[in-house]
Amino acid sequence: MSEIGTVWSKLWDSFLELLYPTRCCFCHRLSGKGKPVCKFCREKYPDVPHEQQEQKLRDGTKCYSPLYYAGDVRRSLLRYKFENLSGYGAIYGEFLLKCLDENEISCDSITWVPLSRARLRRRGYDQARLLAEVIAKAKGIACEAYLKKIRNNPAQSGSGGYEARRANAAGAYRSRQEEKLAGKSILLVDDIVTTGATAMECARTLRKAGAKSVTVLTVARRKD
Ligand SMILES: [Zn+2]
Repeated sequence: MSEIGTVWSKLWDSFLELLYPTRCCFCHRLSGKGKPVCKFCREKYPDVPHEQQEQKLRDGTKCYSPLYYAGDVRRSLLRYKFENLSGYGAIYGEFLLKCLDENEISCDSITWVPLSRARLRRRGYDQARLLAEVIAKAKGIACEAYLKKIRNNPAQSGSGGYEARRANAAGAYRSRQEEKLAGKSILLVDDIVTTGATAMECARTLRKAGAKSVTVLTVARRKD
């Protein structure tokens, strides 16, 4: 770019920053240009201690999460899902990659907990897929659509205990590309795990279709 071009590009950037100042993805305070996470939140997160990042779901499936689904993280994830802030995916992706490395998780293939077609149409993007793609790209591992949601049950963001959620999730997913997933260790990505009912149902569907093993990775987990 010419020198004048560079000057204009810098001015334009400053103008945009004035109009739309960068806000921290978590606390939503002004965080400074080019800083999607403010310095306070950089120090605060990940907030799940290393030894607690791994949990076993009720069926024994291992599930890893670097953040607690509470306070600013919860509000951040709600903006990610419902306020069209798909750019947060790359920021959460950094936390997920760190969690993967620190817990020495390996896999042959990556997939995600999919939205139903109706919900995808309404939202415009699949928040779990974006996360899976960020990880797959950084790791150089294929990201595949191994699951399809075949029943559009009510969103699980609301309340409901484990039994209600398990009944809700039962039979809601179907496997795809079984020939590709057979014999593979699969990393199943989602944004949040609460009771684990959805993650377990997806893991069960993948194992039934021939997956060698399934490990779950989510941005956040419930704080018990
Ligand atoms: Zn912050």
